[in-house]
Amino acid sequence: MIPMVDLKAQYADIRSEIESGFSEVLDSAQFILGPNVQALEAEIAEYLCVPHAVSCASGTDALHLALAAAGIGPGDEVITTAFTFIATAEAIRYVGATPVFVDIEAHSFNMDLAQIEAAITERTRAIMPVHLFGQPVDMRELQRIASKHQLLLIEDCAQSFGAHRDGLMTGGFGLAGCFSFFPSKNLGGYGDGGLVVTGSEGMAEELRVLRNHGSRERYHHHVIGYNSRLDEIQAMILRAKLKRISGYNERRRHVAWAYNARLKDLPGLRTPWEDSEGYHVYHQYTVLVDKRDQVMASLRDSGVASAIYYPVPLHRQDVFRDQYAAVELPVTEQVAAQCLSLPMFPELSDDQIRQVTDAVIQAVST
Ligand SMILES: *Cc1c(COP(=O)(O)O)cnc(C)c1O
Repeated sequence: MIPMVDLKAQYADIRSEIESGFSEVLDSAQFILGPNVQALEAEIAEYLCVPHAVSCASGTDALHLALAAAGIGPGDEVITTAFTFIATAEAIRYVGATPVFVDIEAHSFNMDLAQIEAAITERTRAIMPVHLFGQPVDMRELQRIASKHQLLLIEDCAQSFGAHRDGLMTGGFGLAGCFSFFPSKNLGGYGDGGLVVTGSEGMAEELRVLRNHGSRERYHHHVIGYNSRLDEIQAMILRAKLKRISGYNERRRHVAWAYNARLKDLPGLRTPWEDSEGYHVYHQYTVLVDKRDQVMASLRDSGVASAIYYPVPLHRQDVFRDQYAAVELPVTEQVAAQCLSLPMFPELSDDQIRQVTDAVIQAVST
């Protein structure tokens, strides 16, 4: 079976480095916010060309802490997309604010920027774009809208580590960019982890305080904070993978283009659109298909995994459906009904790429 993601293949490659790093951390007996965390933050800030990087316990926490540090709270509205993982909207709710969903573009799967202005009210404080599946949002246009209406931009970069557009890395456009190191992400640890980048020194300072129990000085607490820190083992693993991230992302792009070359003209299937102005890092390779259930079953029979990201848009989730009953997002709903993601990871071999595409060609033609 060709899986959606094969973390074992990657581990085989970096095993000796991880094993020796692991014993160094154990020998040091320093487990939380130690030298590896500090080095990782500096290395990521440099890689992403952003002045400050503050790690935390998960991508969800990164979003939550960034919203809290930005002072967003009860009564505020944050404009975002419903075609994303639940954490995007959860974080907005954690600070007491309200997510306002706008529709997506059918081609990019990202928020339709042309719909944002109509969604702005006097309560709107921020916009939270998601660079979904690794495709960067047109952030220059979004910056223009945000500054015209004096709104903050907080980017959900959980799927877009290393993606860039107009010469800037995702995460570097807004007040804050929030990353996840969940194991299956482009840059993933072997457990949970997250990080916020920001150009604002004040914001970085606030994030450091919030992630560590509202404390600047040990055992002195001036605000209610959180326990949301990265540990040394994760930081060590992430440093080893950060050294290789450019190669991993390049290889994902190669896999995507190899898929495209064989799938692009199939009837009943639409290959992913790639913005020629951007650098897409293909966290997922997602097609639109007509008879999705049949296609999935056929792929399974051919030994090829596939998955639906995401079957239920956020405004139709049980937790939100009453509140958003009147909201209609036709493109989001259409895409949610047709989207299908294929195996995507840097270690996919050319043989496996052929197996996947053969299986897809067979699945859509029966
Ligand atoms: C994974 C993900 C998150 C949450 O990250 P965790 O590290 O799992 O908390 C948030 N937003 C998006 C778009 C994600 O894909």
